[in-house]
This record gives sequence, C-alpha cells and structure tokens, in this order.
Amino acid sequence: MADIPHMDPESFRRHGHEVIDWLADYLSDVESRPVMSTVEPGDVSGMIPSHPPESGEAFSSIMSDLDKVVMPGITHWQSPNWFSYFPSNSSGPSILADLVSSGLGVQGMLWSTSPACTEIETRMLDWMAELLGLGDRFLSTGTGGGVIQDTASSAVVCAMIAARDRATDGKGSSHGGSAHETLVAYTSTQAHSSIEKAAGILGIGRTNLRLIEVDETYAMCPVALGKAIEADLAAGLRPFFVSTTVGTTASGAFDPLEQIHDICREHGLWFHVDAAMFGTAACCEEYRWIQAGCQAADSYTMNPHKWMLVNFDCNCLWVADRSELINSLSILPDYLRNQATTSGAVIDYRDWQIPLGRRFRALKLWFVLRHYGAEGIRSMVRDHVAMMQELVGWIREDGNFELMAPAPLTLACFSHVDGNERTRAIMEAANATGKVAFSHATLDGRYVIRFSIGQWRTSRAHVKAAWELLQSLSVS
Ligand code: PLP
Repeated sequence: MADIPHMDPESFRRHGHEVIDWLADYLSDVESRPVMSTVEPGDVSGMIPSHPPESGEAFSSIMSDLDKVVMPGITHWQSPNWFSYFPSNSSGPSILADLVSSGLGVQGMLWSTSPACTEIETRMLDWMAELLGLGDRFLSTGTGGGVIQDTASSAVVCAMIAARDRATDGKGSSHGGSAHETLVAYTSTQAHSSIEKAAGILGIGRTNLRLIEVDETYAMCPVALGKAIEADLAAGLRPFFVSTTVGTTASGAFDPLEQIHDICREHGLWFHVDAAMFGTAACCEEYRWIQAGCQAADSYTMNPHKWMLVNFDCNCLWVADRSELINSLSILPDYLRNQATTSGAVIDYRDWQIPLGRRFRALKLWFVLRHYGAEGIRSMVRDHVAMMQELVGWIREDGNFELMAPAPLTLACFSHVDGNERTRAIMEAANATGKVAFSHATLDGRYVIRFSIGQWRTSRAHVKAAWELLQSLSVS
C-alpha cells in the first residue's frame, strides 16, 4: 500500500489538544485584539502559494500559519466589543458539539443514514418551539414540525416553494408546469434582502415581490398591504405569500403579525414569519409581544446562530403543515430507497430542504440547550436588553445624537444632529480605533449608526466604553 500520511488516532489526539489549546488561548484574549481586520484585498491570498503542495507538510507548520496567514484577516465576531450587524455567537458547548459532529462525519440525509441525527433534530425543534412559545401547531407530534436549515435565506426559499405549490395546486413547477407566472408575494420595504432573492430564485420574479410601505416605527403597514393585494387581484394577478419580520435588520422593527395574519386568512395567502435575530428574545415571556400572532403562521424561522449561542450555521424553520413542504421538496431516486423510508414511520430531512446531504447540526442545539438550560439563555437575553435600555437612556440625554427608531430590545439606531456625513465620520473613526465594531443603516434617508448588543462576552463596561468613545468623537 502507498505510504499515505493519514493522521493516526494518537497523532489526532495530540494535535487535537494543540488545536483546543490554541482556540482556548484565542478566546481568552479575543478582547485585546483590534476588532476589525485591517488587511487590504489580496493580503491574505498573497501569503498562500499559488499551487497546492506536492508533499504533505508537518501539522506544526499548518498551525503556525494559522497565526501568520489567517489571524491578520480575521474580524473578531467573538469580541465583547462587537456591536456591528447582529451577533454571530459561538460558545464552548457549541464549538465542542461541532467538533463531535465533524468527528462523526455523519451525513444525515435519511433517517437510516444515522437515526440519531434525525431523531435528535426532531426533538430539538420541538424543544425550541416550546422555548419560544410558538404553539402546538409547529410541533412534530401534530401536523407540523421543524427542521434545521443552514440560514434564514434558505428557510424562506423552502417556505416560498411550498407556498407556491399550494397556490398552484402543485402546478407551480416543483412537479412541472409554469402556473406560477402571475403569482405575487409581499413583504415590507424593511424586510431582509433574502426575501427578494428567494422570489428571484423561485422564478416568481423580484419584480413580483411588492415592498409594502412601513409606519413611523418601520413596521409593515397592514392597510397598505391590504390595498396592494386588492390592486393585484383587480389586475388579474394571484397574491400567494406574505413575509413578515420580527425584528428587521436595519432597525429591529416588529411587523404587526395579528393584523397581517387576518389579511392573509381573508385572501388565503401563506403567512411567513422571519424572526432571524430577535426570535431568541421570545424565550422570555415578557418579550413575546414582539411576535404576538406568530402561532397562526404557516412558517416561522429564527437563527440560533445569531444570538442564541449556537455556532454558525444553524437556522430553525417550522411549518404548520409539514406535508406541504415535503410534497414540494421530496424526491426519491431508487438508490435512496430503504425500508425505513417506505414504511412511512420515519422523517427523512432531505425532503425538508434544498440539498440532499446534511450535517449533524442538532448536536449544537442539544449541547447548548443542555449546558445553559432555558434559564441561562433567558438570563443572557435579559442582561443584554438591560444594557441596551441603559444605553438608550444615555443616547436620549445626549444633545449630539438622536435616536432614529424605537429600541425596545438590543438594537439602537442613532444619528449625529449634524447629519449624515458627520454620523458616518464618527462611526468610521470609532471603527478605525480597533476598539469597537459598528455597522450602519439608512432610515428615511438618514445615515444611522447601528449599536447592536448580543455578543455573550459583552458587559455593561464594554457598552459604556463604546458609548463614551462615540461621545468623544462627536464633540471633537
Ligand atoms: N432575516 C433577517 C431579519 C436578518 O436580520 C437576517 C440577517 O441578518 C437574515 C434574514 C439572513 O440571515 P441568514 O444569514 O441566516 O440567511
């Protein structure tokens, strides 16, 4: 046999310890690093040879390039001074679960290709539905059920496919036909771009997605939605899908789900809820108002990989009627046929997603939920909301900044009173210090600094220091 340098179990053990030590060191001093990478385009690739190595290299030389090549090009999402975009938390239990998943190397496309991968996922999604107060319709014990997707973007594609097939009696192209040509979908002007992307991918057409106007809180206006639907019906088009947002990306606005649901029911439209970031808040009873009415949705999605301490990637999608999703996405070539599938007694999650193959992501949820317990996650959420509410008080008292949108949970959007250029300059100067990372949005033509709290290492002291940095830049 050829001499192939596979890593034997003992070397794996030794190097595995080195890698965990390296990561533990990184995570314990992540706060001391400049938050945003300052490399220029091409700097990282310039350090990598143009051709693959002909002979294998020592593991130690790979590890030393982690520090030399990789780290300069890392932006530190795990820094407590991360206030940009939304958080992308990783946590000890989740990292370790991911490692176990990689080590097992399970490909969970069918129940029979690793029953634990499927059955733990089903149970985790039921746990999550209970934790978030989604109601019984989404539980696997009834007609509904949940599935882990890579991202909220994929989740809405799946939901829209099922909605399209419902609206066209299956003639919308999953099973032949092009009866989807007159279909129209709706979301707000503040919805995430993934909704528009989904409409494009599905052949609905981006121009057949109506962007409904919002009110002064940036929440979708139900009256405007109703009017748009009526106008499309009058024009002979077929409204079929409404995507609502529980916490918009730009400003964290909450669409009025109950009123929108009434409109969906009146016209027989699919009602989707995108709670990618703020869905996590619903683990606390006192914040469930943000998604009042979500229990009546046809589909609901949120990202544990943002705020809920589960490493990217891990999105949860629930549907109230799993048969609609499965009918749209199921395909069973001969080589996948097996007794468990044909018995109908098991779930095959390949029928609930776009790819065939799937990782054992449910382990991350299982480890995180068991390590923290519901109480641990709730405490983190409450701490973050409390920090934000104190910050909101400081912003209100400050004469130089004004809040541009309500900030009831963990995202504040504010501008300098001198206008867009000044606000942009302050944010860029703050980021250039390496001490913090902020991102921006544009609301009604106003450039706003988005101050998003959600990294689990962030304490009140970090928030205060970041705010004082912005204040000092606002007067200089
Ligand atoms: N929906 C909302 C409201 C978001 O804020 C985001 C990302 O920030 C997404 C969808 C997209 O998430 P993903 O990266 O999981 O597709």
